[in-house]
Amino acid sequence: MEALTTRFATRLLIGTAALLGAAVAVSAPPRLVVEAPPSLAAYAREVERLDPVAFLPAMELTGLFDPGDVRVVVTADGSALATRAPSWAVAYAVPAEGTVVLIPTRTPAWPDDGLPDVVRHEVAHVLAFRAAGGRHVPRWFDEGLAMAAGRPRVIEDDLREALAVLTGPRLRFAEVDALFGGGRSDANRAYALSSAFFGDLLARHGSAWPKRVLRRMAAGEPFEEAFRGATGVPFRDESGAFWKSRRSVERWLPIVTSTAAVWTAIVLLTLWAFRVARGRQRRRLAEWEAAERAALQEQTLEPGLPEDAGDLGPEGNEDREEIQKPPLVH
Ligand SMILES: [Zn+2]
Repeated sequence: MEALTTRFATRLLIGTAALLGAAVAVSAPPRLVVEAPPSLAAYAREVERLDPVAFLPAMELTGLFDPGDVRVVVTADGSALATRAPSWAVAYAVPAEGTVVLIPTRTPAWPDDGLPDVVRHEVAHVLAFRAAGGRHVPRWFDEGLAMAAGRPRVIEDDLREALAVLTGPRLRFAEVDALFGGGRSDANRAYALSSAFFGDLLARHGSAWPKRVLRRMAAGEPFEEAFRGATGVPFRDESGAFWKSRRSVERWLPIVTSTAAVWTAIVLLTLWAFRVARGRQRRRLAEWEAAERAALQEQTLEPGLPEDAGDLGPEGNEDREEIQKPPLVH
């Protein structure tokens, strides 16, 4: 019931934004400045053709009605820019640089979807950064906002949320932020919980609380203080309230037992099994390759040859996050 409330709140927000279509006339949606190599020109055109109305939810949530230019760089998988993102991400934002990087040749995996929705999500990160005056917003807030401003919710979102809420530990908001730095499954759980937290807060404090928080942060208040000022409720109590209201099987039963959910679960399980099998195969191939390389090195060791770390390749364990932590969100 409350899951539905969250969805309604998000829909209401988007619906309100759509009703306020006239706002486009009096405000200026972000102008996308797209860069792409000739081989990816078709993707660049797709981005350029995006309806500015698509950015209204992000503008409404952040309270930025004249957000300025956003640079969108379309790049190929394997490029230097693409390797900054985890192998499963099709896009990321560098909000401080007002830049979104798209890797359209990668296959989208949850929570990423089609190109237009991904652009909306990443642009929302840039807008949140600007609305907060460049101050650090918690990652769960940033992702929750971007997901609410991105694509409409689908049954897979509900299923992943149910899984994260019912099977995992009762994480506090800061602990969810830490999950984003883990592997892919941790990140998926973090996305699901961020969306759940954000939706829950939208339902309880109204659709204007995110922009009120951001405005206060831009004026110099730390997040917790801005939250209290915007909602009248101490932030430290909120995660307790969330878990109390969310963790009941009755709440999720109608959703997880719906026909659509059962079919989605079957598809997800099949994909998961496929991924596990592929992971095993990759590990085995990597072991053989390493053994072969070691044997070759023993036979023909050339001491003057420079070592090229890039030759080791980006492939490997998808659950291993890169060591370097670039200043980006995806
Ligand atoms: Zn994101």
